[in-house]
Parts: sequence; C-alpha cells; structure tokens
Amino acid sequence: MKTLTIKLRQSVDRSYPIFLGQGIFGRLVRDLKEKPLGRKYAVISDRRVMGLYGEKLLAELCMQGIDACAFYFAEGEASKRAAVWLGVSQGMLEQGFERGDCVIALGGGVVGDLAGFVAATFMRGIPWLQVPTSLLAMADASIGGKVAIDLASGKNLLGAFWQPGAVYIDLDLLKTLPSAHRLNGMAEMVKSGLVRDPELFALLERNGREMLAGNTSRLQQAMMRSLWVKARVVEKDEREISGERKILNYGHTIGHGLEAVSGYRLLHGFAVALGMRAAARIAREMGILSERDRSRQNKLLDRLGFPQTLPRKMSRKILSGSGQTRLLKLILKDKKARAGSVEMVLLCGIGRVQKHRGQWTVPVDEQMLRLGLEEISG
Ligand code: NAD
Repeated sequence: MKTLTIKLRQSVDRSYPIFLGQGIFGRLVRDLKEKPLGRKYAVISDRRVMGLYGEKLLAELCMQGIDACAFYFAEGEASKRAAVWLGVSQGMLEQGFERGDCVIALGGGVVGDLAGFVAATFMRGIPWLQVPTSLLAMADASIGGKVAIDLASGKNLLGAFWQPGAVYIDLDLLKTLPSAHRLNGMAEMVKSGLVRDPELFALLERNGREMLAGNTSRLQQAMMRSLWVKARVVEKDEREISGERKILNYGHTIGHGLEAVSGYRLLHGFAVALGMRAAARIAREMGILSERDRSRQNKLLDRLGFPQTLPRKMSRKILSGSGQTRLLKLILKDKKARAGSVEMVLLCGIGRVQKHRGQWTVPVDEQMLRLGLEEISG
C-alpha cells in the first residue's frame, strides 16, 4: 500500500467588517467602486424588499457604472427551498455570471440564508455581501456565515459555512418593517443578552420598548452589543466545533420544534421566545437557574410584548395528545439529541451559560421537556 498525503493546512484570514450606520447604500457603492469584489453583482432579494429598497440600490450601483442584475422571489420562509436556489443560480448563469462575480444579499434572514447558499455553491463559491433589512437579520442571521435552505423534512438541512466579505447595516431600513417582525428580531437580541451580556439584557429592560417603538439611537446601542456577542462567539468557534457557538442556540431546541409543528406559521423569534421560557423552567427545575433570574427573563419577554404561551388553538393542536408526542419526537430527534434525552443550552444566570461536564449543553430527558412545554401551553 502506498500513501500520498495532500497537505491542506492553511491559514486564510477571512475577517470582515460589519458597518452600522445611516446612508449605507452610499457606503457600499463607494466601497465597491474603490475595491471591486467582482465584475458584476447579483442583487438577490425578496419581492417586497426589492420594491422597497432594491430598485434604489440598483440605481445607485448603476449611477457609479457598476454592473448589477436583480434576482428576486416571493417573500417568506417557503422561498428558502431548493427550487428557488436552483432558479436563482440558473438565472445567474443565463445572465453571464462567472467565478469572478459577486452576490449582494438584500433582505431578511430568508434572503440572507438563500442568497448566501447561492454564493457558497455558484461555481463552487463566489464572494458575497450582506445587507440585512429585518431586525432579526441585522442582529443575528447576517453574522457568522451560516447559510442554508430548507428541505421538506426540516429547516436548514442543506447548507454551508460561507462568510460574507462585509455586512452593511442601516437601522433606518427598519422604518418599513412590520411591528411583528420588529418584535421577532428582538428575541435574538434578548437571547444574546441572556447567554453572554448582562449589560445588554439590562439595556433591553430599560429601553427595549422605546427601541421597538422606533428609537434608533437606543436601538443602535443594543445592536452594537448584540453584534459584539455574536461576533466574539463566532470568532472562537466558527463551525461549532469546540461547541461554544451552541450557546447561541439558547431557546432554539424547543423553538425549532414549535416552528416546525406549527407549519412555520409561528415566526422564528416568537418560537425562540417561547423556547427560552420553557428552557428557563427546565433550568429552574434542575436547580441550575434561580427563580429570581428565571422571573427576570420572563418579565423582560412580557414587557416587550412576547406571548406567555402558544395561542390557545395552536396549543391544543401542538401540545396535547398526539400533537405533543409528535413535537417531543421531533425535539428528541433533533441533531443535538442523545438516546432518550436532548442536549439543551441552559442558563445559570442572566448573561451566563456555564459548562456542564466540559460541554456547553446539558442532557434534558423527556419528563423535563414535558415540564418545559407545560410552561408555554395556553
Ligand atoms: P424574512 O426574511 O422572511 O423577513 C420577514 C418579512 O419582512 C418578509 O416578508 C420580508 O419581505 C419583510 N422585510 C424584510 N425587511 C423589511 C423591511 N426593511 N421593510 C419591510 N419589510 C421587510 O424573515 P426573518 O425573520 O428576517 O428571517 C428568518 C430566517 O432567518 C429564517 O429562515 C431563519 O432560519 C433564518 N435565520 C438564520 C440565521 C443564521 O445564522 N443564518 C440565524 C437566525 C435566523
């Protein structure tokens, strides 16, 4: 037997900036003019955001002589699927896009995940930029390079780690975002405070409602801290290898299950908020979290306007009898599950997740899960 080793150890600096400010399209266009990332640019968006902001971005690019084409699809999670990914990729081929070209993702988390997956796979990977337009995408989805599409059997099942070249955030774009989607994004900011930043949590306690009402300077302060939490965690564990990145999944184990069994009618952030309430009850029952901190978490969620339970009709369908069995099966089959239990991120205090036997997650059995679900049943 002869062996030949292909040596592939390499250290590539893939650091990238996140710009947070006003008039961000101007900044983006100037940057591309000074330091092009491609010959031409595919601006990928959904129909709503394309109408609101895409035309403006294309006009600014065009005015500077930058070659750009628009690709867009219907808004909503249902577009994050293989047929749309293929459609956009084929469209780019027809428009003459090649390896030396670039994607600009303009939209919420659905656009970011799908456009990022197009960039990761087109000609085996081309550069891309993120211009998030929903609060959820600004605070969370646009950072960290996780890109994916959904399959019939589950969310984000086909994906990659593909870091963007830069992220451009303009809070003024949130003026047109419906209020339910503002609150939706706030859940991820609360989560960032809960897992790593007690000062961010306190800021949301003091000013979260003003932020939701459109106070941009207050929101900018919280956004910076939230981005800081995500950036620091991703820097330490880009691919969830050491496991530290898992702390960002706080509230998501049950949240993902709820989203799936609701047929994605429940928005991601609302599902995560319920998931955090259930997780805090479990942590309390297991003696990991104090009653004081559990109640502090839940009071902030109440104050911001997150429901305490699932809507009654959905609750009856999802959390009782065969509905609950299906949900438990789904959660226990989650990729974080071990035999008869599921690995969950649990808080040990506001801003603190402690390692348990060297892991960032704690095994939670079915009985505990049922107690967690009891907390959120309407
Ligand atoms: P979304 O992209 O569907 O956007 C929500 C709605 O808001 C859409 O109808 C969109 O058209 C509209 N919208 C967006 N920006 C707007 C604006 N400025 N003005 C008016 N309308 C606007 O959903 P989302 O909540 O942004 O993202 C959810 C997705 O993000 C999910 O698929 C989730 O899996 C993914 N996600 C990814 C990561 C990651 O790390 N990659 C993290 C969290 C969530």
